[in-house]
Amino acid sequence: MKRRTFLKTGGLAAIAQITGMSTLSALESLGHSLAPSTRMPALFIGHGSPMNAIEDNEFSRSWKALGKSLQRPQAILCVSAHWLTNNTMVTGMSHPKTIHDFGGFPKALFDAQYPAPGSPEFAQMTQQLITASHVQSDDSWGLDHGTWSVLLPMYPAADIPVFQLSLVYNQPPSYHYEIGKQLSKLREKGVLIIGSGNLVHNLGRIDWHNTGMVYDWASEFDTKFTNWIDKGDHASILNYQKLLGTTATMAHPTYDHLLPLFYILGLQQKNEKVTYFNDKISMGSLSMRSMMIS
Ligand code: ZN
Repeated sequence: MKRRTFLKTGGLAAIAQITGMSTLSALESLGHSLAPSTRMPALFIGHGSPMNAIEDNEFSRSWKALGKSLQRPQAILCVSAHWLTNNTMVTGMSHPKTIHDFGGFPKALFDAQYPAPGSPEFAQMTQQLITASHVQSDDSWGLDHGTWSVLLPMYPAADIPVFQLSLVYNQPPSYHYEIGKQLSKLREKGVLIIGSGNLVHNLGRIDWHNTGMVYDWASEFDTKFTNWIDKGDHASILNYQKLLGTTATMAHPTYDHLLPLFYILGLQQKNEKVTYFNDKISMGSLSMRSMMIS
């Protein structure tokens, strides 16, 4: 068995063990992800609490296993729920700073750094690839916690170049989906594209005691989206606000954490499957459901 195959098997089995996904389905996905292609997978990751960056828990363990199982990327492009701008921007600096864009967390989280280099070259390529929007180069942002809280467990050495793409909040889902499609070529160049948000995200309704209770609307939104994703019914997904009504507004009072998903679904090719991990609703109103398209 080739080393890469072995690592992939180990990684997915580890994820299966952690998340409760059957090893068989992990292996089935593995078979698919080993299809003759050099295309990098695309990931949607539910990032949840920033504390996942430094805590050893079921979510961070699964990110760690994922980082070990994937072919090493040339660079990582993250579309984070936490970078909202008026125009689409891409970080173009060589040394992005670690942004601690949160409050009320322990000092250890503010001390955490993710000193990965940037990738001015891939950032420039991204600007050229996207025609659905005029993409501007940014030199003032950096890596917000939507990006580094996931990458710290996933690639702790911080030696893979990372750059970010911003979200224009007031644009419809189809706008984000189209930009996602146009990023496709980056995958062929070895870029790992990550959408970092949450499939259900209502912080106002969080169950801070974490009793295991899950709101009906949270579970309904999570299930409806999963069914649409499984069927490849992207038309319904892009029309989710109309189709799900108040369930949609309860699951996303603001929909910044859902937008990164549209980029990842836009990247899905006809022959590609979706593998889920961390498929759990945490604290009543936060879906950690994550997926790999490969
Ligand atoms: Zn967030």
